[in-house]
Amino acid sequence: MRTSAQPDFAVIGGGLCGRLVAWQLAGEGHRVALYERGDAAGSNAAAWVAAAMLAPLAEAASAELLITRLGAASLDTWPALLAQLPEPVFFQRNGSLIVWHHSDRAEAPLFERRLRANAPADLLDGGLVPLAGAQVGASEPSLAGRFAQGWLLPHEGQLDNRQVLSALAAGLVQRGVEAHWNATVDDHAMPPARITIDCRGLGAKPAMPTLRGIRGEVARVHAPGIGLSRPVRLLHPRYPLYIAPKQNDLYVIGATEVEGEDMSPVSVRSALELLSAAFSVHPGFGEARILELNSQCRPTLPDHRPVLLWDGAGTLRVNGLYRHGYMIAPEVAGEAVRFASALLDGRVADADAFADWRHNARWSELFRLDDAHDRAQTRPAATFNV
Ligand SMILES: Cc1cc2nc3c(=O)[nH]c(=O)nc-3n(C[C@H](O)[C@H](O)[C@H](O)COP(=O)(O)OP(=O)(O)OC[C@H]3O[C@@H](n4cnc5c(N)ncnc54)[C@H](O)[C@@H]3O)c2cc1C
Repeated sequence: MRTSAQPDFAVIGGGLCGRLVAWQLAGEGHRVALYERGDAAGSNAAAWVAAAMLAPLAEAASAELLITRLGAASLDTWPALLAQLPEPVFFQRNGSLIVWHHSDRAEAPLFERRLRANAPADLLDGGLVPLAGAQVGASEPSLAGRFAQGWLLPHEGQLDNRQVLSALAAGLVQRGVEAHWNATVDDHAMPPARITIDCRGLGAKPAMPTLRGIRGEVARVHAPGIGLSRPVRLLHPRYPLYIAPKQNDLYVIGATEVEGEDMSPVSVRSALELLSAAFSVHPGFGEARILELNSQCRPTLPDHRPVLLWDGAGTLRVNGLYRHGYMIAPEVAGEAVRFASALLDGRVADADAFADWRHNARWSELFRLDDAHDRAQTRPAATFNV
């Protein structure tokens, strides 16, 4: 039974999406409760391990147009969003550098072909700058003389993932969100709320059986003296790698992509591959100190697309952000917040209204109606114990 003491929204899962959605809904004056099975730092989330590169054009090598467009729009949205948070977050828009070793030069035309085929013309225009060896050195002096060619993707960005999670946690407090950390929510005992927003990432698998994990492993190293100023991607047929420089000589080196929901520690093979590839980009990484080897699983749907899945009643699921969570979260979360508000005030209450909403939405391809599965699963009015 719902009472007036219920919050307007229960957001389940406080990784990247859950925090963003809860914080934005609270910013609109709604009463919001958030439930996260891990800690306030976010250390249980895929978002904790991510490199947080915001690279829509580079990702177009393997991502479809929808993802590229969401990424490009989100890149423009991040600064305004970060400016409202109560803690500073490292964000830069200094581009990505793409390089390859001479023996792997066959990868370069393949990469370029995929970008030109998948990315919209406006992103490619001035966004993919070929560099001769001297220009590689001019853009990244520590790589001078090491690569005969490269590309600069000057408009791309990155941020510090852990600072975002921390700043959002502080933002939740500031906006009066009732945050329950270390609180695992069971599918059969959803907390009371008028609208539930499921942002559990891979944890939503009981409700979204086609969701799967794609394991990713990264190394975090401290490497003073190298001084890369932007993420560097190494094209390689077997070990495509990125090195994302954060503040204070910290580098995130990643990432493997392994099918499966294995959350065990990083394998020796992966550690060797990641660290050797980084060493091949710059020998200074030989003297770096390994701060962490970490693994997590990217929440992924069969079509590798994000989804806003409405059950036709009081539950919206935001999921499938795969390897692009940071890159696309502002737009996906923004769309989720607009739709959730419409659910709350009854503007969307049936399939026809949903179809209209989807038709007029900025990102209509995100929306799906899951009546078959979820109508069968009515929300039980169970007691929730933290
Ligand atoms: C190695 C790696 C590198 C990546 N690099 C990048 C990158 O460079 N750029 C980029 O854009 N993206 C990157 N990503 C992807 C990005 O991290 C994800 O897309 C993003 O974190 C998904 O956000 P989410 O909120 O859906 O899921 P998550 O961040 O995983 O959050 C889900 C949260 O739900 C909680 N939860 C689960 N079940 C329950 C439950 N029953 N009750 C309560 N809470 C629950 C979890 O504890 C977790 O905190 C990377 C991911 C990995 C693994």
